[in-house]
Amino acid sequence: MSPLDVIEIPGYPGWFARRVAVEAWQRAGSPRLTSAGRLYASQKYLWDGWAARLPGFNPADNPDDETQRLAHVRFVAFDLANPNHDRAAMQRAGFTFPYSYEPWHAELPNVRSYAIVRDIPSTAGGNARPIPDTPTPTPTLEDDMPTLITSAGGQSLAIEGVIVPLTSPAEVQSIKITPGVLECSRSVHERIQAIVGANRSTSAAIPLRVFDKGGNGTVYILQDGKLRPLVDPTTLTELDAKDGPTITLSHVEVQNLLQNE
Ligand SMILES: [Zn+2]
Repeated sequence: MSPLDVIEIPGYPGWFARRVAVEAWQRAGSPRLTSAGRLYASQKYLWDGWAARLPGFNPADNPDDETQRLAHVRFVAFDLANPNHDRAAMQRAGFTFPYSYEPWHAELPNVRSYAIVRDIPSTAGGNARPIPDTPTPTPTLEDDMPTLITSAGGQSLAIEGVIVPLTSPAEVQSIKITPGVLECSRSVHERIQAIVGANRSTSAAIPLRVFDKGGNGTVYILQDGKLRPLVDPTTLTELDAKDGPTITLSHVEVQNLLQNE
């Protein structure tokens, strides 16, 4: 029995973390979790898909690159369901919260000192399946048509991965979307040129980060007109380093964008 053993998390059948992390989490009062360990194979699948630029794969970290943090793959990270409520207790128990944009993500210090986990030991219930920490890749749409986003929070256009707000009912009525053609009023046209043009010149290759105002803290990524939750903190760190574009939308608008896919 070692503090480094991978064990099942009490109360979470089929979820695993290292004993040292589980015991620290218990000292914090066993706060409710949304994610824990992620096996090497799961991460490898996501990385291979991204590296081959297969449709539907988000940027992902290479699990064979030991310089990456990969805290979930080292089985010493938890994502909290109620970070505001439980953060202080987790900190007192020894966890760090290294990502300001992922307030729910707690991990043990010196994360790289823990090896990447490739298999759940049979003594811990080795046939249990790991929980996915990254959403299942979805197929991309056939084209990149502009999308009209309509919600109680307002209306916007998503064009080439960029959100262009519409400011009046007349603007919304001026929008007609057909394959290959976007008809709109002159004011909307100018706004598209300003927003999409600026985005393209400064950071064309970098996807747009979308923050959900009033959401649960999940950050999304908008790429090729499609919105996906971004759950890998290392991906966010990379985007931050590139100083990519960022936008904050209302919770309703984010939900609408997700549903429109
Ligand atoms: Zn996390």
